[in-house]
Amino acid sequence: MAATYELVIVGAGNLGLWTAYHLARRGFGRVAICERHWAGFGATSRSAGMIRAQGGSETAVKLGRWSLELYQRLGAELGLGSGFFETGYYILAATEAEERAFRDLLDLRRRCGVENEWVDPAEGKRRFSMVDWDRFRGAVYTPHDGYVHPPIVARNITYAVLREESIDLLEDCLVGQIEPAGSGYRVHTTRGVLETGRVLNAGGPRGARAVAAMLDIEVPVSAARHQIITFPQVGQQPAGRFPLSFALAEGIYVRPEEQGALLGMSNPEERADPSERYQLSYDWAYHERMRPVWEAIWPPLAGQPISRAWAASIDYTPDHLPIIDEPREGFFVLAAGGHGMMWGPGLGLKMAELIDEGTVTDLPAEEIRLARFRGERKSRDAIALPFPEE
Ligand SMILES: Cc1cc2nc3c(=O)[nH]c(=O)nc-3n(C[C@H](O)[C@H](O)[C@H](O)COP(=O)(O)OP(=O)(O)OC[C@H]3O[C@@H](n4cnc5c(N)ncnc54)[C@H](O)[C@@H]3O)c2cc1C
Repeated sequence: MAATYELVIVGAGNLGLWTAYHLARRGFGRVAICERHWAGFGATSRSAGMIRAQGGSETAVKLGRWSLELYQRLGAELGLGSGFFETGYYILAATEAEERAFRDLLDLRRRCGVENEWVDPAEGKRRFSMVDWDRFRGAVYTPHDGYVHPPIVARNITYAVLREESIDLLEDCLVGQIEPAGSGYRVHTTRGVLETGRVLNAGGPRGARAVAAMLDIEVPVSAARHQIITFPQVGQQPAGRFPLSFALAEGIYVRPEEQGALLGMSNPEERADPSERYQLSYDWAYHERMRPVWEAIWPPLAGQPISRAWAASIDYTPDHLPIIDEPREGFFVLAAGGHGMMWGPGLGLKMAELIDEGTVTDLPAEEIRLARFRGERKSRDAIALPFPEE
């Protein structure tokens, strides 16, 4: 006889796991999480872990703020490290247009309860000497942003769901087919058939589109290559804090990593990657092309040895905003638009609300619902990597 659940979640990444956790907090019924490999296998454990409430839209700001609080709260609840390091975050403006756009966002963030300020180059030099501030018109600084160590994020939220009696985490469990059955769904997996009232598609960059297609639903979640390198040391450690920094126009960011630094970048010329692979080849030609750029922006990185380099599939949506929706009765879709570490806990919170109560409060519908991709788009997250256009 098929096992029966209130909800089957496809994908045990940051999004699926946090949704299950929030549902358990609400006293929701039995939930199965089906993961074709193991919890955290996908983009989640390959990410850079940059966490910011310094977003470019109301949704981005709120999800960022809730998420960084939730990471810390979960660590305390489990009696473990949260994996979160508060460092502060500078997003650097190189042009007049960027300066204007960044300054325009200051009030929105304050209204959403996020402290942020404009910092001019003279003040920037005084506070954070690793950046060549002469190249910039200034930056917006958020003191409470920082980064997480992705393996600890995966460990904590996996441990949290394993503690819940109402949740079954089914690993090595590939979902191959979903069919409507009565008032719910029948989910065919490599571990048998599951009967369920509802299904959540949290398949991430390498699953969201295919899982939705099982019910003939189109979900615009694509995947592109994103690249990371780490340096075991930097030329000169900054005198005070070592905050995160992001040169938006170049699509390059830097954060501390133990005694050294981590640098992430996306090539704006990249196209969507249809290979269905998470692990992709590191583009050393692009690396060499961009090296003079990052060495000029962050001079203490110049000539430093590299300890690790990797490239992996990152998810994106056409407007860089998330998807929290129910495109078919009882079939839900959750996607992070490439921000699943900084938004994952908050996205899980809001998806749990939609599943349990049928509504999402506190976020503008036009920034989260699938319908926005059918009409003229009003919003876009202004602070995002240079993902492919569509
Ligand atoms: C190199 C890199 C750096 C990044 N850096 C950051 C960052 O600094 N900050 C940030 O916020 N975000 C970052 N991201 C993005 C972030 O990692 C993702 O947005 C987030 O992990 C998405 O979480 P998810 O749960 O949607 O997807 P995933 O973590 O990919 O989880 C989805 C899971 O679904 C499973 N699955 C898919 N299909 C099926 C199926 N049919 N049956 C069963 N299981 C299935 C997969 O195996 C996978 O484990 C980065 C991503 C990459 C690749």
